[in-house]
This record gives sequence, structure tokens and C-alpha cells, in this order.
Amino acid sequence: MKSKIETKCIHEGWKPEKGAARQLPIYQSTTFKYDTSDEMGKLFDLEAEGYFYTRLQNPTNDAVAAKICALEGGAAAMLTSSGQAANFYALFNICEAGDHFIASSAIYGGTFNLFGVTMKKMGIECTFVDQDLPEEELAKYFKPNTKAVFGETITNPTVSVFDFEKFARLAHSHGVPLIVDNTFATPINCRPFEWGADIVTHSTTKYMDGHGVGVGGCIVDSGNFDWMAQAEKFPGLTTPDDSYHGIIYAERFGKGAYITKATAQLMRDFGAIQSPQNAFYLNVGLETLHLRMRQHCENALAVAKFLEGNDDVAWVNYPDLESNPYNALAKKYLPKGSCGVLSFGIKGGRERSIQFMDKLKLASIVTHVADSKTCLLHPASHTHRQLTDEQLRAAGIAPDLIRLSVGIENAEDIIDDLKQALAQV
Ligand SMILES: *Cc1c(COP(=O)(O)O)cnc(C)c1O
Repeated sequence: MKSKIETKCIHEGWKPEKGAARQLPIYQSTTFKYDTSDEMGKLFDLEAEGYFYTRLQNPTNDAVAAKICALEGGAAAMLTSSGQAANFYALFNICEAGDHFIASSAIYGGTFNLFGVTMKKMGIECTFVDQDLPEEELAKYFKPNTKAVFGETITNPTVSVFDFEKFARLAHSHGVPLIVDNTFATPINCRPFEWGADIVTHSTTKYMDGHGVGVGGCIVDSGNFDWMAQAEKFPGLTTPDDSYHGIIYAERFGKGAYITKATAQLMRDFGAIQSPQNAFYLNVGLETLHLRMRQHCENALAVAKFLEGNDDVAWVNYPDLESNPYNALAKKYLPKGSCGVLSFGIKGGRERSIQFMDKLKLASIVTHVADSKTCLLHPASHTHRQLTDEQLRAAGIAPDLIRLSVGIENAEDIIDDLKQALAQV
């Protein structure tokens, strides 16, 4: 029986057998026991499947990864300690010193820094591109050493919508996979594999957890990219790994090759694991993801419409508004709604935007988004504080931009709070 996504949120992952705990148990154990030395030896050679040390794999984490894998419609998945770790592993698993990849310039600031500064120090070069350029223009950025293309379904904080089909065609015609960070949309609103993406990443810290409880990340592989067909580009997957007696991942593990390599090499060596306790919380969040996403979108659209109709508001950016330049892409790729995040500016610029925020009572000022509680941030004063107005504009962030993450409270209460704050500035 093929269940629908709402049912998957509840039932995928942990499948208890007779007499086992109904809720996912937390395997709060670093290690796992075997009867013979030989049994354990086979695990170290990747010849047998099983748990031996939580840095590599843990049953609680695996059950939650399996649920996210099912929601995305993937072939294999792994949890990581954060969204940052997920995006780093997703690229470092197929790029090494001397390699190049292409990323949208509109992505999350933390990822921008990871790609543009830290990975550059490792000898991996990233070209940031304007994701709205036509296909022919974007094709010019590919080089012989290009190994991947990266974008976000809905960008944080500018909430632009990614044109999957355009980027999938570009990536595949150049023999490289398309990696998409699907954090803001979640698989409830968009499943990138259905539009040609090969690998999906998540900061599970956001909607998947949904309650501001635990930082975490996830990588899901569709299993669709044919590494062997591009064998010379991806030697890490298509030539022997000396650290495992010459195993060739793409030959031995088929659709599981990419995730097996990321676990066996990157998790082994870098160790950015999610704690089983956090994975447990994440699983509780996932059980209501479908309900919460619907409410986030409904509330955000009501708030966006209110802001659009208010004379004190200079501009509103929310892809589900008919007036938004990304509305056509949103309708195509996100027919159930985009997400709960929107941005707007108040007439009177930076100063007035700050005054307005200080008057809010229900919405809280926090460095967080995609949470059950309505929250907001002023990038010019917070995340992008060091930049001048001119530098902010170059980064696509208006000095008056307020990033509002609409929660799942009653929409009228959220709007009333905005109204009273606007009345005071
Ligand atoms: C927050 C975020 C990240 C980083 O995730 P952490 O869990 O904070 O490490 C990556 N991508 C997007 C789109 C995000 O919103």
C-alpha cells in the first residue's frame, strides 16, 4: 500500500515489531555489542550491515533519516549535526581541492560563507550566480572541473523561488548533479527529486523540528545520478577507497553509494553527528509537519495580504502573492503554498523598521526562522550588521528589510500585533 505524505509523516521510519516500543526509542548508547570478533570485523570492512559506533550510525538517527528519505522520495539519507554540516558534506562528498561548483548567490548567509570563504581555503572554488539569469547565460559558468550545482528551493531571507527544471537541465547537460537545500519548503510543499534534483539537504532546525528545540541537518540522495557514467569526474565514488580495502562505492552500493560514502568517510573523519536525543525530538516534530506547514502558509498569506494593503508598508515580498515576481514559479513548484517566511519594509527606512520591531508584543526578535512561534529579525542590524547600506544593497538586502517568520498562532492575533506596532511608529 502506497501511503500519502501525511501518513508518511506519522508512520515512516520506526517500524516496531511485536512487543517493541510504539514510539521511536532513543538509543542512548555510543556502542553496540557483538558475539564474535569476526562479526565486528565485517562491519569495519563494510561487508556486513550493522551498528558498532554511534559516530557512524545509530538506530534512532537511522529511523529518522529513513522517515525524511521517504518524505522526499529518496533512496538513502543520513542525519547530520546541523544544516551547515549537511551542506558541507553534500558538496565535500563529491568535490576535492582543485574542483569547482556553482551556487545561487541568493542562498542562506551561513551557506554563502561556507562556500565562498571556508571551502575556498580547502581549495574548492564556488562561483555564485544570479539564479534568475537565462539558461544560456548560466551555461557560461560551467568549467571542466565543475562538479555540482547548488540552490535553495526558497531562498533565505529573500524568499526567491528556484527554477528546478532550468537548473536540472543545466547540471545534467554538464554531467553533474543538482543539489538543493529544501529547508524552507520542506517535502510537504515541494519534493525536488520530482523536478530533477539529485540530492536534497535540510536544516532540520527549521520547520522539520518546528519548535526551536534542536539544531540538526539531513542529506537525502535520490539515487538517480549515474556516477559511473561520469566516472572520471567523481573518482571518490568510482575508484577504490584505500581506507576500506579498495571498495568502489558506486559499484558496491548502487543507489546507496553517495550516502554510504558520506557516512563511511565524512562522518567517520569529521564526526558531525546528530545526537540520538535530538533525532528523537526531530521525529516528534516530523509527525505534525504536514499540519504545521499548511497553517504556516495560510497565516503567512493572510499576513502578506494585510501588509500589502497597509499604507505604512513600503513593500512586501512573499512568493504566494499574485503581485510577486516569483508567483508563477511558486504556483508551478509550490502549489500547496511556499512557506511561512516573508520579508517587508516600512516606509521611513531602516530607523522606522527598527522602531516598529521594538513595539511588537507577540512576535519575538530572535535569530531563528521557520518556527511555530512568530519571530522576526532585521538583517541590517543583526545578521548583516557589519555591512554599510551600499554593501547591503549589493547583497540583495534592503536596509529596511524585516524578515518575518509567521508562526502557527491565530492569524488575526499576529495581524493585530503588527497593527498595534505600526500604529506606534
Ligand atoms: C538555517 C539554514 C541553514 C543552516 O542550518 P543550521 O541548522 O543552522 O546549521 C542552511 N540552509 C538554510 C536554507 C537555512 O535556513
